[in-house]
Amino acid sequence: MSKTYLIVAEHRDGKLRRVALEALRAAADVADEGDAIHAALLGERLDGLAAELAAYPLAQVHAIEGEALRHYNPEAYARALDPLLQSLRPDGLFLGHTAFGRDFAPALAAKLSAGQISDVIAIERDGDETLFVRPLYAGKAIERRAFTAYPQVVTIRPSNLPAAEPRADGLAADIAKRSADHAADLRTVVREVVRKTAGAIDLTEARIVVAGGRGVKSAAGFRPLEELAELLGGAVGASRGACDAGYCGYGLQIGQTGKVVTPEIYIACGISGAIQHLAGMSGSRIIVAINKDPEAPIFGIADYGIVGDLFEVVPLLIQAFRKA
Ligand code: FAD
Repeated sequence: MSKTYLIVAEHRDGKLRRVALEALRAAADVADEGDAIHAALLGERLDGLAAELAAYPLAQVHAIEGEALRHYNPEAYARALDPLLQSLRPDGLFLGHTAFGRDFAPALAAKLSAGQISDVIAIERDGDETLFVRPLYAGKAIERRAFTAYPQVVTIRPSNLPAAEPRADGLAADIAKRSADHAADLRTVVREVVRKTAGAIDLTEARIVVAGGRGVKSAAGFRPLEELAELLGGAVGASRGACDAGYCGYGLQIGQTGKVVTPEIYIACGISGAIQHLAGMSGSRIIVAINKDPEAPIFGIADYGIVGDLFEVVPLLIQAFRKA
């Protein structure tokens, strides 16, 4: 029997987040021929986003609009999505493993009495079985899990799966609009979102991350790192050591209790490489470490290591990239 999958497409500041397209790709990897993949968007004034999403291979885009959906609120969102879940009865739900997905997915799984596999970094097929690959113990182990029943809820770690591509034939999926204005009654939503970002590029989606640790020594010490990141079109991150020392905000923290990043290139400057830090960046494709201690554990996972003073090495890199 054919199956129905639903992705809950995350967006921010009027733009689809890349992880929404990665979730779509995950659903497409799981789906067989004849299965239908739908996408749900929740928020306010979704026309532009719905049209953008409709260019992807989807059976239908469901734009659910309401003033109460301006900011994410689990109750209001769950109620707004409920009629669609009732009518679609999805066999699988896919969300990003982001702050939003981490909160919303379990609520949906509970609502649907579904099983959930979280933080998926790859999907494999073994005969008829679909295996969801996820890291364990701060990335020290990898497990492959399979569902034994439907419905299924899956969250996808950002920047691990390729993003879905728009349809090649240029056709667009049908867009169904619904309005929903269920206020949430268990929590009060503060009608203001204060976002702390260091730059224009979202750290979790950046292709290049330049991260600083306690070795950066001060807030001013982060300037050359910011300069290098800007030059490379990347984002700045940090270890908890640097955040705890007050050199930067916790919004930049990468690791077990911070953000998980998987960029193409990760440049660690003055970071020792504690296991809790590695948990947030060991999935990076190329790791470059700059540290003056040749015994620093970060060199154990680095593809390229530079033993030296970051205050000499980073300006040299900036100089070289400016020339290139
Ligand atoms: P340090 O370990 O002090 O390393 C600084 C490094 O800079 C050293 O290797 C030194 O050789 C080098 N250095 C100094 N000066 C220079 C220079 N001029 N040039 C080049 N190199 C220089 N940490 C995280 O990062 N993220 C987390 O999410 C996280 N979660 C945690 C959760 C728990 C429950 C616990 C217990 C800890 C957690 N930690 C986390 C903390 C972690 O254990 C480390 O303490 C932290 O990562 C160390 O940060 P650091 O590498 O910047 O500092």
